[in-house]
Amino acid sequence: MNCNEARQHWNLYHDSEGDVELHFRIEEHLANCPGCVEWFHKQSRLEDLLVQKLAAHTPEPELWNRVLVASGLVKPASTRRWILFSGMAACAAAVVLLLLWNGRPSSAVTANDIVELTSNWHERLATGKEPLQFRSQSDLEVEDYLRHQVSFPVRCPPRKDAGFAVQGAGVCRLADQPAAYLAGHVDMTPVSIFVMRRESLAAFPHQRAAMHGKIQRSRAGSLESVLGVIDRNAVLVVGRTDPDKLDRVLRAYGTYPHHL
Ligand SMILES: [Zn+2]
Repeated sequence: MNCNEARQHWNLYHDSEGDVELHFRIEEHLANCPGCVEWFHKQSRLEDLLVQKLAAHTPEPELWNRVLVASGLVKPASTRRWILFSGMAACAAAVVLLLLWNGRPSSAVTANDIVELTSNWHERLATGKEPLQFRSQSDLEVEDYLRHQVSFPVRCPPRKDAGFAVQGAGVCRLADQPAAYLAGHVDMTPVSIFVMRRESLAAFPHQRAAMHGKIQRSRAGSLESVLGVIDRNAVLVVGRTDPDKLDRVLRAYGTYPHHL
């Protein structure tokens, strides 16, 4: 099952309808796809919010359906059961919610965990389930590649003398925020570095609050991570290794002199 198929069947999955085999295949996809896990989570949260907001208004399924189709949430001719509870006021509420949902995450509608999201990405990169978008062992080539891929400033990978040997890089989204990743090794252990705009930390309110402007260490299972703000970036380094080593990599981020 691919992402499209999994997402198409979201409503059956969410409502515990559909056959066992379908549920099993969706579960199986989710076990290997942090992107869909995040997407499913958001869908559920959005639906919960909508259901809360919708009192019994005059049914206007046609209009409501058009709003949903336009938002890309449902396919045309969908008959989601909560469409029946909709009305003009509900549409207005939904549009506001959709804007919130599609735009800048607010602390009211999100409770994202940057450690969890990056840990999932790291595992996929480290196991090869997620192929590196760009493969190179050259710091400068990797830096140059990322500069053309993301709209925010990204500095070069940590120098090799900080222990990080880069293998490649790519882009991803973390809680709907654009991010870049650098994949490599510290000693022989896979380590990934995730870079975002520092402003993107707003999508992770509880982590931002816990940081107090300092480097924050976390652990998810056997994965260690360190998160800090460096210049205009929020940077998270994750791997199954001594957090002191990750800390060293984090502090070395962007210290490579520019010779271009
Ligand atoms: Zn997927």
